[in-house]
Amino acid sequence: MIPGPIEFEPAVLQAMAKPTTSHVAPNFIDTFGNCLELMRKVWLSDTGQPFIVAGSGTLAMDMAAANLLEAGDRVLVIATGYFGDRYADLCQRYGADVRILSAAPGETVPMETIEKALATDQYKLVTMTHVDTATGVRIDPKPIAKLAQQYGALSVLDGVCSVAGEEIRQEAWGLDVVLTASQKAIGVPPGLALLVVSQKAMQVYKNRNSVVGNYYADFTNWLPIMEAYENRRPAYFGTPPVNLIAALEVSLQSILLSGMEGRFLGHQKIAQAFRAAVKALGLVILPKEEHLAANTMTAVYYPEGIDPAVFLQHVGKNDVIIAGGLLPALKTRYFRVGHMGSVTNNDLIATVAAIENSLVQSGHSCKIGAGLKAAQDILTA
Ligand SMILES: *Cc1c(COP(=O)(O)O)cnc(C)c1O
Repeated sequence: MIPGPIEFEPAVLQAMAKPTTSHVAPNFIDTFGNCLELMRKVWLSDTGQPFIVAGSGTLAMDMAAANLLEAGDRVLVIATGYFGDRYADLCQRYGADVRILSAAPGETVPMETIEKALATDQYKLVTMTHVDTATGVRIDPKPIAKLAQQYGALSVLDGVCSVAGEEIRQEAWGLDVVLTASQKAIGVPPGLALLVVSQKAMQVYKNRNSVVGNYYADFTNWLPIMEAYENRRPAYFGTPPVNLIAALEVSLQSILLSGMEGRFLGHQKIAQAFRAAVKALGLVILPKEEHLAANTMTAVYYPEGIDPAVFLQHVGKNDVIIAGGLLPALKTRYFRVGHMGSVTNNDLIATVAAIENSLVQSGHSCKIGAGLKAAQDILTA
């Protein structure tokens, strides 16, 4: 129950365990082509260009920046925690002129602040983190994408902790890049960087004056590969991770089984149940307001007076694995629980029970069963 790598479905793991075929074998060509088509459905982008490249989510962030930025370009980074700061750092490597708008922990950057920045300078790119995995804060990307469009900037959504969990409608919302990694709500073991890029952003990349300053990340190398496999032809630039792509096909098919609407609602319900449980136990979440809380994970403050190490150890003894804090300034004051992907009601119930037990065993007085009841009330509604 950590915010990635998440728990993977047996069918996905079985797909990974199949013998590794050649990357030009007919069965693999079909699998790769299918994955590219399925990504458009999960991202809700009919016309976007999907990319599947071996690497982690940070590579996906890197690919967007490397291909869309040239030295001197202005970038507006909207930071709600750890990964916004990483994006600012990353863009600077390509010589971009980065302005970072940082929110206080648990809060978001006000729309007026974003609009003021966009109205003052001409930005090439606006980046934002949909769900910041350090704080569990979720922003609303829709109005920000609209503003970026209005002021002639491209929008990049770091959706590593949200794609296939939180509602995202890339095309309808006008998001230029939506990127993620395999190990979070996509539900495939770590190792794939996944992006869908709008045709408008592809045009910006094609009109570059300078060569992309990152060889492995360069769309020039990868675009012909994606186009070839989608047309069911093999092509080579770097050997694709055959087993991970086989697993991706199974996971994307399983995600689409309930339809994206169903997928979004399922995550909302599980998240609501978990937040109700922690509230019933008298605990406080890190996001300042309920509507800022993510549906893929939750960050919760420890109650006063308990030793975090003792608490986490007890949770582990209950056979549940949760994560500690990540934000440097508050690291020891909160814990994080991931509830994305194939998490079931039973998983959630077991987690709430483990938290209740461990609070008591760590010397905190809380009403045992109160969290379970609150969660059950929502899960069974
Ligand atoms: C996990 C995560 C990343 C980094 O992904 P890696 O696969 O660890 O490189 C980036 N952004 C967000 C929002 C994440 O949750």
